[in-house]
Amino acid sequence: MKTTTTPILIVGAGPTGLMMAAQLSRFGVEYIIIDKKKGATIESKALGVQSRTLEIYQQMGIATKAIEQGYPAKAVSFMAKGKKIQEIPLMNIGEGLSPFPYMLILEQSKNETLLEEFLTQQGKSVQWNTELVSFEQSEEKVNAIIQRANGEQEEIVSEWIIAADGASSPIRHQLNIPFEGSTNKQVFWVADLEVEWELSYENLCVCVNRNTFNAFFPMEGERRYRVIGTILTKDQSSPVEITFEKLQEDLAQNLDIPATFSNPAWISTYRVHHRCVDNFRHNRCFLMGDAAHIHSPAGAQGMNTGLQDAYNLAWKLALVCKKQLKPQILDSYNEERLPFAQKLVHTTDRVFENIVSTNPIIRFIRLNIALPLAKYIMSTNTMRTFAYKTVSQIGLTYNGLSLGDTGNSSFGFARSFPQVGDRFPYFILFDEIKQLTYTSFELIQGSSFHFLLFEQEGEDGTLSISVTEYIKALHSKQLFKIHRIPFSTKNEVVYRQLNIETSSIFLIRPDAYIAYKSDDISMVNIEQYLQEILGVC
Ligand SMILES: Cc1cc2nc3c(=O)[nH]c(=O)nc-3n(C[C@H](O)[C@H](O)[C@H](O)COP(=O)(O)OP(=O)(O)OC[C@H]3O[C@@H](n4cnc5c(N)ncnc54)[C@H](O)[C@@H]3O)c2cc1C
Repeated sequence: MKTTTTPILIVGAGPTGLMMAAQLSRFGVEYIIIDKKKGATIESKALGVQSRTLEIYQQMGIATKAIEQGYPAKAVSFMAKGKKIQEIPLMNIGEGLSPFPYMLILEQSKNETLLEEFLTQQGKSVQWNTELVSFEQSEEKVNAIIQRANGEQEEIVSEWIIAADGASSPIRHQLNIPFEGSTNKQVFWVADLEVEWELSYENLCVCVNRNTFNAFFPMEGERRYRVIGTILTKDQSSPVEITFEKLQEDLAQNLDIPATFSNPAWISTYRVHHRCVDNFRHNRCFLMGDAAHIHSPAGAQGMNTGLQDAYNLAWKLALVCKKQLKPQILDSYNEERLPFAQKLVHTTDRVFENIVSTNPIIRFIRLNIALPLAKYIMSTNTMRTFAYKTVSQIGLTYNGLSLGDTGNSSFGFARSFPQVGDRFPYFILFDEIKQLTYTSFELIQGSSFHFLLFEQEGEDGTLSISVTEYIKALHSKQLFKIHRIPFSTKNEVVYRQLNIETSSIFLIRPDAYIAYKSDDISMVNIEQYLQEILGVC
């Protein structure tokens, strides 16, 4: 049997596996990615691309292409019993918080194609028609058996294996990892079709009805929508099929809005499960995406969360493979991603239950209390910002976890200022020397850590940081970029936003999270963080 050796074997080339491969390519680390399918998904599946994902795409240089192929969601209309209860504008809902202050509607199939094209540009490709048959792991390595379309089997020996193999993950099954949670009684149907009605063709439309709910997502093409609805089932194990005729009947009975439907391009059903593993790491195997957590599509979080699992692990694993960081950092993957996944599964489960429940009391609350209350809540700026930060995933924090708990930070920030473990905020800076403006995200492009040295004027008018020694020491490690940001009166808004009063240092991780910050510019504290917490080799 032919044997191939590689540092990392990625099983599954859905959005999650493709993102893992793309990120490893950015760090110049070798890997093999396999998928039993013939090629990338052709079905539209997930539709919503959140701001945080677009920020990652920007770092990869594919955000512009994504935006050209999709369109920002303009507004969402909530309808109950056929009447519009409220309309929330979404277009610039996160203005000033992200370079992409909206949700982009871009089908999963197009996201997968973009990621696959990125791999091609890096000289890499997915091995399609190639199935993982079995694998074993020991303290030192992973031995996997794969099978090609012609039935030939080969062995792949790797240091690590990535389970990005979807909701029914064969790897999770082989490792007997529990996937605790529940399966909903309602089955989702999903259809891409043409809708004729009097409502705006630009808005997302959520219709809460007496018995169920329907959501309409505008798609490319005239009057085309992705429509979703639910069917109640008694038997949770057998598959449920739905025809276009049955779907029309269902909408006619429940929608309460005059509409006709035609030209279905894709109709599918899927069961909504709410399940999560109890650990994202099993020795040399890392689980991610649907293999690790599944939930309802409420909030368009599924695909985005898988992409960000991959983004979180990739830099850590790449730098361990390159022997620049010690393997201890790999434990932070589970520590950072598991609580988020558990919370997401729990929240989407509750939201979904309330949306589809047939219980008369919940139905009454849904129609008469929840929607009007939501209208009132969403009319305040604070609540809109909170909702945007949550759904767009830019508000996700790893604060207080092992990589973000230095004990040395002397800022004592109130929560309104960015903390260690938070995503580095988006802002615009002015460069006094070059006389130009640039964004915080342009500053931290690339695949290294970034030291940002904000220099403030001392009482005697001189800059108070001398960084020459740091630069010499850190540049030799080729892992850090250093940016001196001299004092400018034009940046005072930024200083206020970051709560900077004296010269201060920030260390930003390759995934744009704040690793360390302090206004005590002491090499001792920084070195301690790099050695003891980050594990720099
Ligand atoms: C009909 C439908 C509609 C959806 N709508 C939404 C939505 O509106 N919003 C949303 O956020 N999410 C939605 N989702 C969920 C979303 O599609 C998933 O969250 C997303 O695909 C997860 O990506 P993944 O890469 O983790 O897994 P997957 O996309 O499932 O990819 C796993 C890959 O692993 C491969 N694989 C499995 N076993 C093996 C093996 N033994 N060897 C080799 N390869 C293997 C599979 O072929 C597959 O390509 C929808 C899903 C479906 C099915």
